[in-house]
This record gives sequence, structure tokens and C-alpha cells, in this order.
Amino acid sequence: MIKVRFSKVGMENFCCYIDPMEIEIKDNDLTVIVGPNGIGKSTMFNAIPFTAYGETSSKLKGDDVVNNKIGKNCHTWLELYIDDEFYRIDRYVKHSKFGTTVHLKKGKGNNEIIKKGQKEVKPEVERILMPQKLFFNTKLFGQKVNSFFTDLEDSKQKEIFRKIEQFHGHLGPYVLIGYKMGKIAKKKLGPNPFTKKAVIYTGIKPPLSCIIDGIQISSGCTLGKGNIFIYKDGVPKVQFKGENGKKLEINLKKCIQNEIDNEVTKENMIKYSEKIFNKSDIELFDILLDNYE
Ligand SMILES: [Zn+2]
Repeated sequence: MIKVRFSKVGMENFCCYIDPMEIEIKDNDLTVIVGPNGIGKSTMFNAIPFTAYGETSSKLKGDDVVNNKIGKNCHTWLELYIDDEFYRIDRYVKHSKFGTTVHLKKGKGNNEIIKKGQKEVKPEVERILMPQKLFFNTKLFGQKVNSFFTDLEDSKQKEIFRKIEQFHGHLGPYVLIGYKMGKIAKKKLGPNPFTKKAVIYTGIKPPLSCIIDGIQISSGCTLGKGNIFIYKDGVPKVQFKGENGKKLEINLKKCIQNEIDNEVTKENMIKYSEKIFNKSDIELFDILLDNYE
């Protein structure tokens, strides 16, 4: 149960960026995160995981990320707060001063390196931040998502689908299931994401874990805000807690899960997603309010 906030990401001679560039990540700064063609978004999606784990989400690592033209001196850095503790990670590839290595520092204004080299840093980052697998399966920039598109009406299906795809990477039944679960929470527990908490039981293995992204999109509960918790049970179930001890549990109906697992193929995925989207909450879920304990 950790609260993570990325505050700064920077890069030099990284992929197509030669000149040093630093992006400050401010809460509610929508443009940085979701700007359609924004330089910030795509670069951040690459530079953050690369700095943290040594690999981008598209599996680029090592020499792959060094700018072609320069061919050396690649440096990326990331500043973040984990439970209000400040950390900085500097990753170097073919760097004239540091070679190929990574440094982890802790404490603001403190330049002491607490872990050095991929062998030491990666397990430590996985311990203090989260496992790489979980990182790649979810989007961490969720604090922006609330204002991003949770308020769209269901009639704007096309728009919703487009944005889910943009956020999650693809459209499938489970991300839509999660999206619908989050919508129910918003309706029953109120729209304020800061007074809600979500406990998700899907585990972190796709396709079930796609539910996590769906829930982040519509409920406003996000990993970035620290009000999402994930358990490894491997079941399509979520519990929300709201103000005044209000509780809500949503279970995907077993027959729907069976249908998804047995009938959805690559070819009918979009069609099936539409079908899920247009089903009512009662058809899809068993919903318990307040009385599941
Ligand atoms: Zn998915």
C-alpha cells in the first residue's frame, strides 16, 4: 500500500531526444499527460519505466535507447515521492563519465547513492515502488484521468472507446468491465475520487488485470493517488469504500466471465466489447451495497 507521485522526468541523448529535456509533472496538469500529440506523454511513457527498470514498455533497453546520431552519453532521470519520501534515479548508457549504470538516491538535497548498478537498483525499485510487471500492466498517470474523461455519457460510446483505447492500449471486454465497475462506484458513492478507495481482486495478470485500468478510468481511484489496492486472488471482483463507511462490492457474474473466456477471440474482440458495453449493470454484475461484511 504505497502512495507514489512522480515529480520530474528528464532525458538527454535518449531515443530521438538529444538536448537535455526535463518535464515537471504537476498534479492536474492535463496537457503533459494526455495531450494528443504532446511530446511529454510519449516520452514520459518511455523515459519513466526506462529510468526505473531499465526497459521501456515497448521492451527497448540498453543501447536501443541511445540516440542514433550521438551514439553515447544517454542519461535519463526520474524524481519521485514514495509515501512522501523523496527518491531520484539516474540511469546512464554509454556515458562518458559514468559508463552504463544506474544510481538510486534517497532524500531531497541528499546526493548519497544508496544503490548502484542494475543488479542492486532494480530489486530495490521493485521493492519500494512496485514490481515491473505491475508497472507495465497499469498506467500510473491516473491522477489526471478523473478530469480526463470520467464524465462522458454512455451515449458517447465512440468517444469513450477511443479514450479507453488511448489509455489502456487496446479495447477489450475486461477493460470495459472495469470501466463499468468504476461507473457504478461513482454513481453509488459519489464522484469525489479522494473520498473513495478501491480494493481489486484481479491480480496483475492480463486479461483479468485489464479491469484495473478500466476502474482507474471511470472511478477516479488510481494507483497514482494511492487509493487502489490490488490483491492476487485472480477474480473479477472489486470492493469500494466511500465516505461514512459506505461499502460497495461488485462481482462480475460467473456466466459472463465464462462467456468472455470461452468466446472472445482476436477477431470478435471489438464486437464483443460493444456487446459488453451495452449490457446493463444488472446483467453483468452482482452488486452488494453496504452489507457485504
Ligand atoms: Zn486489456
